[in-house]
Amino acid sequence: MKTVIRAARYSLACSVLGPGLRGVLWVQGCRRHCPGCVAPEMQPFEGGFEISVDELADLFLNASNLEGITFSGGEPMEQAEALAELILKTREKKDFSFFCFTGFLLEDLIQSGTPAQKQLVSLLDVLVDGPFVEEEYANLLWRGSANQRVHFLSDRYKDWADRLSEPSQGLELEFDSGMLKWMGIPPLGFREKFASKMAEFDIIIEKRSL
Ligand code: SF4
Repeated sequence: MKTVIRAARYSLACSVLGPGLRGVLWVQGCRRHCPGCVAPEMQPFEGGFEISVDELADLFLNASNLEGITFSGGEPMEQAEALAELILKTREKKDFSFFCFTGFLLEDLIQSGTPAQKQLVSLLDVLVDGPFVEEEYANLLWRGSANQRVHFLSDRYKDWADRLSEPSQGLELEFDSGMLKWMGIPPLGFREKFASKMAEFDIIIEKRSL
């Protein structure tokens, strides 16, 4: 039986959520409910759509010039088994790097994570951990609040370690299925301001970040 992922969205070209040009998969479902979460529409586990690991692997493998894939959400660790399978399947054909955001802490995943979560962590190159904390909002590379940490789990991107105090890589827009969508780590209040500006022009938007 094919493994299925419950996804909120994917992009085949993003350069603001990890090093280089990346595919991004936003999974659907997160039970953390952080105040100020920029993706509340991705919290319900019954939302989004189902897509097989095989289909996602083909989409990313056939996209042009991708250096790797980023997992965001929602909470990727809730679907760790399927994401580990996606990594193994794509790496049979391309040496993609894998970058993942999670609300869990790395040490908790290592000490008391499920076998699938431990396997997923073992396959990642970079893990950004910790929930978004509104009171600790910060404009930092790959992070929206100061409590979040970047862990380089392989040697692949260790040269980025001295850049962690740099600001976020910014936001990108893309059109998909007739909708304007954004991706990246936004400043506080961006979501509401953007929605209101776009409404002035009757532009349908969907928004996404961390
Ligand atoms: S900020 Fe991240 S960890 Fe927190 S509720 Fe939103 S998706 Fe979940």
